[in-house]
Amino acid sequence: MSKLWKPTLSQLEAGLDGLKVDDIKDETKVIITRAHHDFKEHEVPVTTPIVHSATYRINSVKHYSNILQEGGYIYVRLNNPTCEAVEVTMKLLEKGAGSVVFGSGMAAISTTLLSFLKAGDHVVSCASIYSGSYDFLKHHLPAFNIDVTFTGNDVNEMKKAIRPNTKVLYGESPSNPLITILDMEEFGRLGRTLNLTTIMDATCSSPVIIKPIQYGVDVVVHSGTKFLGGHSDLCAGVATTRTEDQWRTIFINRRAYGGILSPFEASLLLRGLKTLPIRVERECDNAQRLAEFLSTHPAVQKVYYPGLKSHKDHELAKKQMRKFGAMICFDIKGGVEPAKVFVQNLHVIQLAVSLGGVDSLISHPASMTHGPMIMTQDERDEHGIGDGQIRFSVGVEDSDDLINDLRQALDKALAVKA
Ligand SMILES: *Cc1c(COP(=O)(O)O)cnc(C)c1O
Repeated sequence: MSKLWKPTLSQLEAGLDGLKVDDIKDETKVIITRAHHDFKEHEVPVTTPIVHSATYRINSVKHYSNILQEGGYIYVRLNNPTCEAVEVTMKLLEKGAGSVVFGSGMAAISTTLLSFLKAGDHVVSCASIYSGSYDFLKHHLPAFNIDVTFTGNDVNEMKKAIRPNTKVLYGESPSNPLITILDMEEFGRLGRTLNLTTIMDATCSSPVIIKPIQYGVDVVVHSGTKFLGGHSDLCAGVATTRTEDQWRTIFINRRAYGGILSPFEASLLLRGLKTLPIRVERECDNAQRLAEFLSTHPAVQKVYYPGLKSHKDHELAKKQMRKFGAMICFDIKGGVEPAKVFVQNLHVIQLAVSLGGVDSLISHPASMTHGPMIMTQDERDEHGIGDGQIRFSVGVEDSDDLINDLRQALDKALAVKA
């Protein structure tokens, strides 16, 4: 494999600002990080401009080979300044060796998986993962003669499913729908002990809450469409690696499969990243308060939120996460009908799929994403989708307004049952 490509250094790692990277907090990193070769002194714009040129002028043939060795730009699909600005920021946030940005979370996930697998290999994956990832693993990898075994979201179960030809362990934490938490340290250790590549989808928490590479995980993937962008106005993905070789493998595969983000979207993503830490902090605080409120309402059967002592992974979440996240799952008593009444009577919280944005979004999987048009009852049972189950991504609105909205709609759901 060509050793030419290297992850771009940020100006902080290059020592250009005289600051030590490790001393700088996430809140500051997202604001000040730049690619070190970005701009000449005295010509630095505060906001990274969008460079949408498809190609870059080469001074001489020798210059071309210098670019390959020392970094720089040749063609938009290989890399470009706007995408690179996202990559250096994400690399520092995750404390990884390098990041690779993609046009969607699924592009990041599929390209990363294909980067570490070939025909005849085997993957062990948690079963409770994002539906698109499950579909890719279950229905698309077998076409490349790659076998997949699904297990519970538990490292011991994953360990038992390992075969001689296993190459990749794939996990997601926190996972939908029941917001289960995987032990990152055990997951990373299992992969390193057996020399398997560990890939973790940490979309539902964000790097502000947990940095899986610090626990020894090899590759962290994110749907940038969710918390990283944070405003439900773009589609993007990012993969960040523990080592430079892993970074290069994914970078070269992105070049081959062509899944890079557009510079326009990269600019939106950069803008979102600047407020990631403060948005997530507010969303998590709101979520904790709302989860506690929901647990007290008579229309609610059960609340799944790792910040509640009743959650089965509460202690683990406390150990490895900085906050408990902004995703809440709960069951409405009485099943499908009261749940539909509830979601259709909200005024502040909006009925929509997706998550991680400033807007509070809610959905009822049993009649929407996992409804009768899409799955059978058996499949819903297999995925742990209950009839009255509600998926709630908490935004940055005022928590009193959110509670009032929930209360009036829950009261209407109670009336249906009576
Ligand atoms: C949304 C999501 C994805 C897919 O991301 P896209 O940007 O929609 O391609 C992957 N994993 C998780 C956990 C997600 O929520």
